[in-house]
Amino acid sequence: MRTKISGISFITCAVTLFFLTGCTVEPQKIEPSPPGYQIRVLLDDRAEKIFFEVDDEYEIINWDTSEISKAEQTVKEIEITANGNAVKMGQHRFETRRLGLQPHNAQPFVINHNQKYRGELEIIVNADNKTLTVINIVPMEAYLAGVVAAEMPSYWEAEALKAQAIAARTYGLHIKSRFGKNRSWDVRATQANQVYKGVLAETVRTNNAVNSTAGLVLCCEQGAGCEPFGAYYSSVCGGHTENSENVFGDKIEPLKGVECPYCRESTKPSLFYWPTAKFDKKTVTKNIIDRYPSFKELGTIDKIEAVRESKYDGNLTRITSVKLTGSTGKTGFLRGDDLRLAIDSSGTKIQSTCCTIISLKDEFLFVAGKGFGHGVGLCQYGAREMARQGKTAEQILSFYYPGSRIKNLY
Ligand SMILES: [Zn+2]
Repeated sequence: MRTKISGISFITCAVTLFFLTGCTVEPQKIEPSPPGYQIRVLLDDRAEKIFFEVDDEYEIINWDTSEISKAEQTVKEIEITANGNAVKMGQHRFETRRLGLQPHNAQPFVINHNQKYRGELEIIVNADNKTLTVINIVPMEAYLAGVVAAEMPSYWEAEALKAQAIAARTYGLHIKSRFGKNRSWDVRATQANQVYKGVLAETVRTNNAVNSTAGLVLCCEQGAGCEPFGAYYSSVCGGHTENSENVFGDKIEPLKGVECPYCRESTKPSLFYWPTAKFDKKTVTKNIIDRYPSFKELGTIDKIEAVRESKYDGNLTRITSVKLTGSTGKTGFLRGDDLRLAIDSSGTKIQSTCCTIISLKDEFLFVAGKGFGHGVGLCQYGAREMARQGKTAEQILSFYYPGSRIKNLY
């Protein structure tokens, strides 16, 4: 459990804080989110067990019966497992497939020794009766504190951090409203949506960016008025951002690609360009079929050809659609970025689709790569350069999301 900090250790911590702003004393205050503005973050969808601890009283809610039990603070971590139709929590067995744990006084809780979150924890027993889905239900602003800190280095310019906070708030709300209704969670805590690392990632500078923009979102005219949209963002666009319809399918004015002269200025060549990535055909076939089982009929994938590309000034070409030809002679098509993440889910080897794909006898090469990420919406390194040049968060956002404006949602 978390220990209270005594006089001496507090001084050590305060000194460290002065230099590093990384020492956790007490979680910083985050602006409240109005009722209804919370988000359900998927932390794990197949946990065999989790360990839970919290330094305050908390309530245990059996969501099948709505029965509420009050629990003392945990003096040591409690193991939680699935047990048939029940959740086992330490020595207690709760006859439910869905259990909520709600700490009092907004006290953050710790799971699995080193992950600390604001908000509540929800545990769902999966259909296999053995594993658990683990969800953090957290107020939107507290969620953003854990996102901005994970998505942008805290030492970057304040206006870039503010632009990041507004884009992340807009994106989070969009994903929640678009996909959350038919499932038990709204967003993943990974780069599949936005990276969320909870309280331990938070810093004073990133929290200031969230607090100073609380409630602000980007919107554009969409029939019913100015509505938030999928404000995608990526690391390095490579010189031109991409039309969203070529990557995610949404055709919308603020997600139209723009020429970005900025990220080239703020990246080292080793980040702007990436080295040749090699994957053998067996791995490529397996990874693609794992994600898109219907491609099984292709047999071993033998050839990958770019069939649609966006060509921009400055020798930048982004592959937006590919044709796959298999050993059976059958063919299939994928969007460029879907291919990239199917082959390399981490996105760290094939860093973008601004590259050339070469099909050799036993392997595929991805050569002459530029940029990092899908390239839609705000370019994070570009935003940093704009902030360095004195641009405000509002100017950065209106550059990368043309035709959008900022509105105050709460
Ligand atoms: Zn850029």
